[in-house]
Amino acid sequence: MSAPFSPDPSCQDPVEAPELKPVDEARHALFEAVSVVPGEGEVALSAARGRVLSADVIARADVPGHNNSAMDGFAVRAADLPEVGSSAEFEIVASAWAGQPATVPVAAGEAVQVTTGAVMPRGADTVVIQERVRRDASRLTVLGGERAHANVRLAGEDIRRGEVALRAGVRLGAAEMGFLASLGVARVAVHRRLRVALFSTGDELVALESGRALAAGEVYDSNRYSVTAALAALDVELVDLGIVADDAEATRKAFERAARDADVVIATGGASVSEADHVARTLREMGEVTFWRVAMRPGRPLASGRVGQAQFFGLPGNPVATLVSYYQFVQPALKKMMGMDELFPPVFKARCQSALKKSAGRVEYQRGVVGQVDGEVVVHTTGRQGAGRLSSMVQANCFIVLHADQSGVETGDWVDVQPFDALC
Ligand code: AMP
Ligand code: MG
Repeated sequence: MSAPFSPDPSCQDPVEAPELKPVDEARHALFEAVSVVPGEGEVALSAARGRVLSADVIARADVPGHNNSAMDGFAVRAADLPEVGSSAEFEIVASAWAGQPATVPVAAGEAVQVTTGAVMPRGADTVVIQERVRRDASRLTVLGGERAHANVRLAGEDIRRGEVALRAGVRLGAAEMGFLASLGVARVAVHRRLRVALFSTGDELVALESGRALAAGEVYDSNRYSVTAALAALDVELVDLGIVADDAEATRKAFERAARDADVVIATGGASVSEADHVARTLREMGEVTFWRVAMRPGRPLASGRVGQAQFFGLPGNPVATLVSYYQFVQPALKKMMGMDELFPPVFKARCQSALKKSAGRVEYQRGVVGQVDGEVVVHTTGRQGAGRLSSMVQANCFIVLHADQSGVETGDWVDVQPFDALC
């Protein structure tokens, strides 16, 4: 009787260790080869979300610009606060709203009513919150026990004039956008957006856009959709070159166009060294390209190099392998090219609720579901891990990273996880 088909053939084949390049070595070689794309420019802050600073931003003024009240209440002198067990009377002499400072100073025994954000009146150094006073027309009674200097935000406590507000290499997200606006920075120096050309290779691929039903042996081109979506998180300018047939001439044309238009060319499929894989052969003729078999699963074949002025990445065609290779190799390299200083996603420890099989000698990026049980971070596998099963990525919310020296995981072991949310 013949052996049954393996359910996940691409993942079951034995590791031929001698030819495999360790993940860290491949990563190192890749990062050595790429550098920041030239061409910085200045853009309005309003258009700078997602861009990467090409120069440090220095604060030109203190933020906040003045001492101001952190609460609604009454500004007084700390020296006038009563001892615990006694009380003190104040005369309310003025009010100050955010944006409308008081015109008179606070003298001994006097108070100014303030709202949150109001500039502290001259002479006052403490705010007693409104919930803790008794007020009768312009008379105010404060009981003992109030803290001196309470509820006052000091000028420059967020950042001082002359300090580095944000370093070059920071990507502008919500917090950074708000911070720069608070500093009055209306224009920022940023790196150029990357232009990335993307195409899929394979005679069996059908473009969803064609509206055509599949014939026997055909599959829809899903990689362009997944990689396009992943690239969107980096705000690149995408040049979609569609599907390229397994044909030398078509492959050459695609590469010529891609290399002319883009800083980066990403192709999926055909990166293995088999004779039918025109990406590999054409690239060897056209540029300087290295093909690796990386000691990882999924995603063994990986190509990288230069075609014309463009940086090239060749990813495996299997849809899960494509995404794994994209996140583990391509995205950090793109971040480096964008001028970013934080390239790798954070890794967390989680207690594994499943036993996981694995052979030593390669890194595995298994798909898992991370969550919390009784305050502990736990993860379980999504089950079958075939490199073609995109459903395993959809069910998952993290990669379970099993390192080269690990050989299997017992239930209850700690493992490294990379949450998908933190990947971009
Ligand atoms: P390859 O890397 O070209 O040898 O392809 C490996 C497997 O991935 C084959 O089963 C292909 O049909 C499949 N594949 C390659 N490219 C794509 C794609 N763009 N979308 C979906 N599946 C693909
Ligand atoms: Mg192919």
